[in-house]
Amino acid sequence: MESNQTLVRSPMIEGALTTDVNPILIGQIDSIAQPEEATRMSSSSYEFETIVLGAGPGGYVAAIRAGQLSAEMGGKVGCIEKEFLGGTCLNWGCIPSKVMIANAERYQHVLHAKDMGVQVNGDVGYDFAAMQARKEKVVTTLRGGIANLFKKHKIEHIGGTGKLVDPNTIEVIDDKGGKRAITAKNIIIATGSRAIKLPIPGLDGENVWTSDDAVNAPFVPKSMIIIGGGAVGLEFAYVFNAMGSKVVVLELMDQIVPTMDADIAKEAERQLSRQGIKIMTGASAKSAERVKGQWQLQIETGKGVEMLEAELVLLGVGRKPNIENIGLEELGIKTHQRGIEVDPFMRTNIANVFAIGDCTGRIQLAHVASMEGIFAAENCYGLSRQMDYKAVPNVVYTVPEIASVGLTEKEAKEQGYDLRIGKFQPGSLGRAMAVNERGGIVKVIADSKYGEILGAHICGPHASDLLQEAVLAIKLEATLDDLAETIHPHPTLTEALMEAFHDAAGHCIHKM
Ligand code: FAD
Repeated sequence: MESNQTLVRSPMIEGALTTDVNPILIGQIDSIAQPEEATRMSSSSYEFETIVLGAGPGGYVAAIRAGQLSAEMGGKVGCIEKEFLGGTCLNWGCIPSKVMIANAERYQHVLHAKDMGVQVNGDVGYDFAAMQARKEKVVTTLRGGIANLFKKHKIEHIGGTGKLVDPNTIEVIDDKGGKRAITAKNIIIATGSRAIKLPIPGLDGENVWTSDDAVNAPFVPKSMIIIGGGAVGLEFAYVFNAMGSKVVVLELMDQIVPTMDADIAKEAERQLSRQGIKIMTGASAKSAERVKGQWQLQIETGKGVEMLEAELVLLGVGRKPNIENIGLEELGIKTHQRGIEVDPFMRTNIANVFAIGDCTGRIQLAHVASMEGIFAAENCYGLSRQMDYKAVPNVVYTVPEIASVGLTEKEAKEQGYDLRIGKFQPGSLGRAMAVNERGGIVKVIADSKYGEILGAHICGPHASDLLQEAVLAIKLEATLDDLAETIHPHPTLTEALMEAFHDAAGHCIHKM
């Protein structure tokens, strides 16, 4: 970028200069020193205006936003990736797991087609290899999409492993051992995180999977024990149970989806248990032994110790930020236990070096990484954009889905709010009955003084789509009255949220 160029701020960018940052999520901000001024040459002496290290949903989105800005203001953008475009999310996370869930759900629909009067003649079965091939096709298509977007925005995709050697230089080693030193005015670190194996004594070797193995599963095990009742554990529990595995989920905390509202967790546990998944909360695996081709796990629960046996163990918890061997120590870039320290502008303690996404260890979600990427990129071009974590949607894509935004009832009470709470069962809606979707709960939480929406929590069909209304409400600081007066289309599942808002306002129409 030429120094005499001025940045024309779009209204969208001006409007978003927010300082609203959740201190719990940020934690370390206060302790971050003022950025040290990096040794800078004039920008024209760098090969790149902005270089991004890692092409996950944080890094590739940051690169595209930087590409858009560079198109206006000059300078080249590059993105270094040692594996595949799309990172964990596209290759081992969000997307492959959702294809597997969709495959399993379709199989279940066909198995239960007669509930809706549909006749299926002959045996209903599945071809797991074909299902996995479809998953692979979706992933490769989307990977190609990112490559095309890079071309469109003139972003150089640099294959290889990168390491910062000074605040303006990354050394890249490609898979043939070739070295290239890349200089850039701005650097965005987006190296993500990786699955790790929990150290359970005896548990190692054959048929111990992490989520990386599960998305590439070559077969459906007859039985499995899943360690972790969070998003990853429950999504695979849904998939493999629906495909015929006997599944047990172990959760250390006293509820599944431990960060979510207790009422929603209870309903999710009820729904998943009804499908045949055995859920054990307050349970931890103490040791494991391989006996005659089976895993035997010693499980400690509040009631004592018991033994569980299964063909396979899936570790659904445990990820580590990728912060080793990328030059952080050498450059004095500060880290904490969970990842790289950044301020609300996504800046590290070196002024021109930013970090985003899972490698910062804040909130490990793809959509958070992407928004952080957009903000970091804009800050590279002279803007002053701060992340706002008040309205972060969090979804578990089981069937039914579990979705949440804002404060849980417990958190809101702990923060001293006097609450108005509304609840509604979506299964009683006409549309839910029409599509044969029963069960579930919607819960909304508002502050009784000003009516501000503080949280919304859903377990039920299409929860991920329904939630967005509440995400926007929290982001725009809408009140209970605003939401209760909003006309919702009939017949839709969105009416469940409307009824819950009416309930919180004290006048729910369709509640017995
Ligand atoms: P990553 O996606 O981890 O990308 C980092 C990239 O950097 C990788 O491609 C890596 O190869 C590259 N890299 C690392 N070091 C170097 C280096 N030195 N040089 C070059 N390249 C390097 N989130 C959701 O929001 N929704 C979901 O439904 C969801 N489902 C998930 C399901 C599973 C099974 C898992 C494991 C995760 C899921 N997540 C989901 C989480 C989501 O995948 C991550 O939060 C997201 O991928 C983080 O993005 P990122 O860009 O920070 O890092």
